[in-house]
Amino acid sequence: MAKITLDNLAHSYLPEPTGEEDYALKQLDHVWADGEAYALLGASGCGKSTLLNIISGLLTPSRGRILFNDRDVTEAPTAERNIAQVFQFPVVYDTMSVRDNLAFPLRNRGANATYIRERVQKIGAMIGMEHELDRKARGLTADAKQKISLGRGMVREDVNALLFDEPLTVIDPHMKWELRTQLKALHHEFGHTMIYVTHDQTEALTFADKVVVMHDGRVVQIGTPQELFERPGHTFVGYFIGSPGMNLLDATVKGDTALIDNTEIPLGRDYGRPAGHVQIGVRPEFTRLAAGNDGLKVKVRRVEDVGRHKVVRTDFFGSEINVIAGESEGVDTAADRVTFDPAGINVYVDDWRIEGTAA
Ligand code: ADP
Ligand code: MG
Repeated sequence: MAKITLDNLAHSYLPEPTGEEDYALKQLDHVWADGEAYALLGASGCGKSTLLNIISGLLTPSRGRILFNDRDVTEAPTAERNIAQVFQFPVVYDTMSVRDNLAFPLRNRGANATYIRERVQKIGAMIGMEHELDRKARGLTADAKQKISLGRGMVREDVNALLFDEPLTVIDPHMKWELRTQLKALHHEFGHTMIYVTHDQTEALTFADKVVVMHDGRVVQIGTPQELFERPGHTFVGYFIGSPGMNLLDATVKGDTALIDNTEIPLGRDYGRPAGHVQIGVRPEFTRLAAGNDGLKVKVRRVEDVGRHKVVRTDFFGSEINVIAGESEGVDTAADRVTFDPAGINVYVDDWRIEGTAA
């Protein structure tokens, strides 16, 4: 197992990159702690696979270094890095049985036959294929083949790290949950450093202790699911995570008050007089419907009952402000204001969250 350090890393697919926009992966310094389970979360095209392939050695970065513990592996080939990687689509040997596919990485390392037999049996059970071990991989469904790929990634106990690149894309929804649980169990048992790439926030938040959020080639925040929810470090984290995402409104901030369309909003903390594109962000969970004179004047557009709670969609001069109300709470259709709980207000300048001081 290993601690993985990314030092001054950046990558462009162009031979002669000029500006920032030519980089699929922008300047990145990060240490992946030994034995931690991370999710790497972001929309399609933001650079997740690029980063994973640099760690595994499939790609050499245009700039910077990668260290496994204290060893510089930037130029080391994949095989030397001792990593297991599972891709989005199955990579299996069609002519081999399921058993031989799973045993392959172990045989490659010269493990003994008894150990291989036991380990393959165990992994076979984890992926729900213990009764199909002697079938040929050819003719199996994409779903079953992907389970074999996952199993092959999980079979070795002595790897430096396990990398999963959206491995459950072709798996049916019920089995997704099951396999994710197995991956977590594997992490508890062996404590491998794991990086699990996904564009699905639920998958990321349920899998990992720490979530690394990427946007447009950049890591915008690394935190626990709770930190990402309560204190989104970047507006992207605010609206990408959460359902619906964070409400964002342009504002003028003076000390402990935001001014939005001539309405004063108490912020609870003092932010000075920030310059730039100033916005306040409040999650729907901290937004309330109100009537009277306090808060922003809105029009209620729609109430959606999503089971656990209700989502009230309101319109504020063309911007949507969403409110989450309890399942049993009545929604007053005469309500024409929204108010914010100061504890849930974040202030952003040019998309990055700024810290206030005690007011
Ligand atoms: P993700 O895995 O988050 O969907 P990728 O790392 O695959 O994102 O891609 C990041 C960016 O790099 C995208 O703009 C993509 O088009 C570009 N890209 C990916 N692979 C290549 C490649 N082999 N050659 C050129 N551009 C690439
Ligand atoms: Mg990808």
